[in-house]
Amino acid sequence: VAEIGLPDRSEITTCAYCGVGCTFRAEMRGEQLVRMVPWKDGKANHGHSCVKGRFAWGYANHRDRVTKPMIRESISEPWREVSWGEALSYAASEIKRVQEKYGRLSVGGITSSRCTNEEVFLVQKLVRAGFGNNNVDTCARVCHSPTGYGLKTTFGTSAGTQDFDSIEQSDVILVIGANPTDAHPVFGSRMKQRLRADIRDGGAKLIVIDPRQIDLVRSPHINAEHHLPLQPGTNVAVLTALAHVIVTERLTDEQFIRERCNWEEYREWAAFVSDDRHAPETLEPVTGVSPKDLRAAARLFATGGNGAIYYGLGVTEHSQGSSTVMAIANLAMATGNIGKPGVGVNPLRGQNNVQGACDMGSFPHELSGYRHVSDADARAMFEAEWDVPIDAEPGLRIPNMLDAAVDNEFKGLYVQGEDILQSDPNTKHVSAGLAAMECVIVHDLFLNETANYAHVFLPGSTFLEKTGTFTNAERRIQMVNKVMAPKNGLEDWEVTQELARAMGLDWNYENSSQIMDEISRLTPSFAGVSFDRLQEEGSMQWPVNESSPNGTPIMHVDDFVRGKGQFVVTNYVPTDEKTGPRFPLLLTTGRILSHYNVGAQTRRTENTAWHPEDLLEMHPTDAENRGLQEGDWTKLSSRSGETTLRVKITERMAPGVVYTTFHHPATQANVVTTEHSDWATNCPEYKVTAVQVTASNGP
Ligand code: SF4
Repeated sequence: VAEIGLPDRSEITTCAYCGVGCTFRAEMRGEQLVRMVPWKDGKANHGHSCVKGRFAWGYANHRDRVTKPMIRESISEPWREVSWGEALSYAASEIKRVQEKYGRLSVGGITSSRCTNEEVFLVQKLVRAGFGNNNVDTCARVCHSPTGYGLKTTFGTSAGTQDFDSIEQSDVILVIGANPTDAHPVFGSRMKQRLRADIRDGGAKLIVIDPRQIDLVRSPHINAEHHLPLQPGTNVAVLTALAHVIVTERLTDEQFIRERCNWEEYREWAAFVSDDRHAPETLEPVTGVSPKDLRAAARLFATGGNGAIYYGLGVTEHSQGSSTVMAIANLAMATGNIGKPGVGVNPLRGQNNVQGACDMGSFPHELSGYRHVSDADARAMFEAEWDVPIDAEPGLRIPNMLDAAVDNEFKGLYVQGEDILQSDPNTKHVSAGLAAMECVIVHDLFLNETANYAHVFLPGSTFLEKTGTFTNAERRIQMVNKVMAPKNGLEDWEVTQELARAMGLDWNYENSSQIMDEISRLTPSFAGVSFDRLQEEGSMQWPVNESSPNGTPIMHVDDFVRGKGQFVVTNYVPTDEKTGPRFPLLLTTGRILSHYNVGAQTRRTENTAWHPEDLLEMHPTDAENRGLQEGDWTKLSSRSGETTLRVKITERMAPGVVYTTFHHPATQANVVTTEHSDWATNCPEYKVTAVQVTASNGP
């Protein structure tokens, strides 16, 4: 305010960082943003915010913003600024050339969880209707794709079951593989409130399953009943042991199971988990968790009243990510913790619109609304609306695109708002795949790491420069309202539309509201959604349709979306990533409060409080064994690669386990992560890498 002056207008909009989806009043003076004020009527935040949403918007004006389209014939040449018309016609002709030379399936696209539903929908439409294949994927591939698979299989749809308000009625909160106070701060604070031991009803009790002592475990004044510090990679074993205790001690909710679930599948699952090989005592050498603590946690969850499960990427980013999601769903069904307030299975979605990106048909096997491309009725709807045939065969996932590129079979890629070189695992493999392509189109705010391999750069617009919708972790669809003109002259949906037109498609959207109208025509769970209704209601939680015209705060109330809930036997299979004499430690990764993912935005926000580098957290014993002092440089090496970073010595880590973040390109933490991935979805196993740490002189 001191620099710009008092605001003279404002717009309500939605934060573009995490999946909590806080709403803000963006206060402007002329074309300049003065401040972001958390909105008291925001349904997800009720007037609260974290440091990122409130202060980390300086990137919108950062000198690194690219506002002019650029092209180059080869990646060894310098970029050349060109007009939008030249850039788009070059991009379109290159995509066509590649398809003529290498075939229809040789190109694809990646949608962005940072962009609006409408922008995501258009990118997948461009791939399906323009490129003529299903080679579309999204950054959820590397985060919550196992949620998609696991919850669709067990419950029938790929989304969290509750609204955030539900937590007020929880008696036991089980947090597994998530760090809500850092990664979902506003909801993390709300969770803390509910866990306070001094509130009138004594508050909810907390169970944390995580290798690291997350802040919730260490917070004063809360009911931190149980922390189960498991060995990375053993989620399924711990969840099976919890189920073993609940089933063998007859703590299940048999009435719920008989009425709501497939009884025969339940019996098969119950017999499996009851086996002695799944007892906490038998599994202790694998999990590292005290059987006494595990039994107590199981009893508390099953008998402590309303039990709610919240999970994050510590569940999904494993070779058994999908199995872990299904094991969580099994546990909730076995204890009757589904279909009412205070309970449920709640994936804490990472990015602001990762839920929406998945809903909008970004996966190579699914059309919007999670309908498989082999579903002839679903395809017929799209074919009638778009007047093109839709492939019945699933397309390529991101890792398959990169593999095919290395094999010279995949040659063209349109990436919107995603830096796959920095965020995807095994950087060497990603760069080899990108380098083998002949046409890489990057559509982004900045010349990111992926752009090093691009031939066309299309400048993107920030959330302040566009109108559309985001969908948060509780399936809440909220408006994003434009507060300033796009610096590049076009909103992202307009760029995709112009690219489609350059390829010969007859697209004529006049505004993003018309795109939402098309989404609602083609997506049953969005049937009742329109911009007018959203502006009127503030927000709506899908499904919004004839049977739930005002939206659905809690899912699976009378029936599961799939009918009867499905128990799935989830056998623990150890990861292929093994420690040994050369790599004796296990690395796990995550993020911190003040930064966001690859840091493209937070690193470009001037604020001395931002952490300037990634640090390696290590237990004091491991540090002492290596002669390391706080702040020393270390070399972190794995079978995939090595990097250097400073050490932070902390008892938050268990001996044998180290932790770092991936916010800074100087570190490139993903040079050490492996190519192991979830058996069902290819979600990378970021959370388990065998590493060695040695002293270093620095980079
Ligand atoms: Fe934005 Fe998430 Fe922070 Fe809310 S909690 S302000 S949505 S980053």
